[in-house]
Amino acid sequence: MVKQANKVLSAFGTTIFEVMSKLAIEHKAINLGQGFPDEDGPEDVRAMAAKGLTEGPNQYPPMMGTMELRQAVTDANHRFYGIAVQPESGVLITSGATEALADCLMAFINPGDEVVLLEPLYDCYLPLVLRAGGIPKFVRLDPPHWDLEEERLRAAFSEKTKLVLLNNPMNPTGKVFTIEELELLSEVIQEYDAYAVCDEVYEHIVFGLNSHIPLATLPGMGDRTARIGSAGKTFSLTGWKVGYITGADELIARIAKAHQFLTFTTPPALQNAVAFGLNKDDFFYENLKDSMQGKRDYFRNGLREIGFETADCDGTYFLNADIQSIGFQGSDVDFCRLITTEAGVAAVPVSAFYASEGAKTNFVRFCFCKREEVLKEAITRLDDFFKSK
Ligand code: PMP
Ligand code: GLN
Repeated sequence: MVKQANKVLSAFGTTIFEVMSKLAIEHKAINLGQGFPDEDGPEDVRAMAAKGLTEGPNQYPPMMGTMELRQAVTDANHRFYGIAVQPESGVLITSGATEALADCLMAFINPGDEVVLLEPLYDCYLPLVLRAGGIPKFVRLDPPHWDLEEERLRAAFSEKTKLVLLNNPMNPTGKVFTIEELELLSEVIQEYDAYAVCDEVYEHIVFGLNSHIPLATLPGMGDRTARIGSAGKTFSLTGWKVGYITGADELIARIAKAHQFLTFTTPPALQNAVAFGLNKDDFFYENLKDSMQGKRDYFRNGLREIGFETADCDGTYFLNADIQSIGFQGSDVDFCRLITTEAGVAAVPVSAFYASEGAKTNFVRFCFCKREEVLKEAITRLDDFFKSK
């Protein structure tokens, strides 16, 4: 073909998750690169989906989502955060958080609008912003503490700022934003009369004394924030791709304009099973958090015993380790290739999540949402490998 494909998307290579997973398979490595649990979520939720598939309905559900799921998302918002929305108009169901992000960005961005992005950023953010014609303005957070610095934040804003895309709890850092940081974000966003799109897919995977505070709950933010969740993370069913957006009626109506032409709907059997899941009692949510925290602790201790220093991690599936702390002088990319091919453990280089200049290249991201025996074997392999060096 002579005519070129879209130049924005053509400029991106294959996503780092796919690259590392492929390498892990080729070398029979334990895959602690791409983020997915190795145990499927609740059996009763899966049974509900199976029942829905055999008994129906299996035709297009309403464009905004099944009423069961919109009601369950409404109830969950109220139960966990005191957020009040109307199920008919304040909730939109999407095919995963990824579609939700695409909907929000397509709905708000006009070519030339500036979009504030906090780095390191999740892989689809930059391509989606650019494809929508947005101009990215980066705010860099650095390991090991990932603090949000006011000066850097303010420098990214201008009169052209349309929105801020915030991922909290944050992938790949494992950071949970503090109330002070959220207050700062809220202040600057309101000063520039911008929107916030909040990717909160890890809302229920937050450790210790930290709690997840949606930016939407801060004074003045409710009307300008779209809050995104995902059943993939809350129910350890990442292949399901059921997401939800909550926000003020006017915002949801605008976002639905994009959704109706992108996917229009999401399988009804999955939607209703997720509705059932969201209504689970507190024990389910506590257990998810405790079990993920146990995995983080186990894996972090193992890495520390080998000699790695690790970055702060208060939530998500991810822990970042400093490769210089064990004497490795090459880049994070070299390190990930080396341990995947030679030690039999795959990780992801954190530099892959930075687009602007100045990022450190000595951290790698490990995904710890795996069974304890798998984490143990990964630690043993890494230990044996580095001892032999
Ligand atoms: N945002 C972040 C930060 C993620 O880590 C993920 C996980 N895959 C997604 C969005 C995408 O979620 P989904 O699978 O529901 O599209
Ligand atoms: N969210 C997952 C991660 O950060 C990967 C999802 C994907 O492969 N697109 O590893």
